[in-house]
Amino acid sequence: MTNTTENNKQVDLNKIKEAVTMILEAVGEDPNREGLLDTPNRVAKMYGEMFAGLHTDAREYFETVFHEGHDEVVLVKDIPFFSMCEHHLVPFYGKAHVAYIPQDGVVAGLSKLARTVDTVARRPQLQERITAEVAEVLQEKLNPKGVYVLLEAEHMCMTMRGIKKPGAKTITSVAKGIFETDDVKRSEILSFIQMS
Ligand SMILES: [Zn+2]
Repeated sequence: MTNTTENNKQVDLNKIKEAVTMILEAVGEDPNREGLLDTPNRVAKMYGEMFAGLHTDAREYFETVFHEGHDEVVLVKDIPFFSMCEHHLVPFYGKAHVAYIPQDGVVAGLSKLARTVDTVARRPQLQERITAEVAEVLQEKLNPKGVYVLLEAEHMCMTMRGIKKPGAKTITSVAKGIFETDDVKRSEILSFIQMS
């Protein structure tokens, strides 16, 4: 992983185009028919966007932090995210809830939590790993008293293929620090997440 924020710079769009043309040929399509002419190009651009997180380190977002004297929980919930399952390269998507309890009043801009989810999700991923990586970035950059990350998602690889279970939700969570050791704090954050 590199430190550039220039997304797409390291995604080889031409190579994706060639690969998409080959897939179309391989499934028995004619890549030269009118409707498909620009498809390899469109897919290449889309993949460039969907995998841009491979070339961005979310830790950069926390280079500026604030000392606010706020020592209670900070929760950003219902952050929509889209990712691509690394086993099938089909989407999984849902909501992320990210919470931490600052240490010595060190807080980050709220949008940084959402950007972290976005960046980590825009890679070939597993839901479990997004959850763990987001928690890890916060732990490392803010050194908070605790971090709690919960993701709920629907996986197209369970919906449109295989066992075909539309609507099935997968929940993953990671608790660090006080959220790991203190049951009261953990149930408090869960009730905040469930509150509408
Ligand atoms: Zn999958």
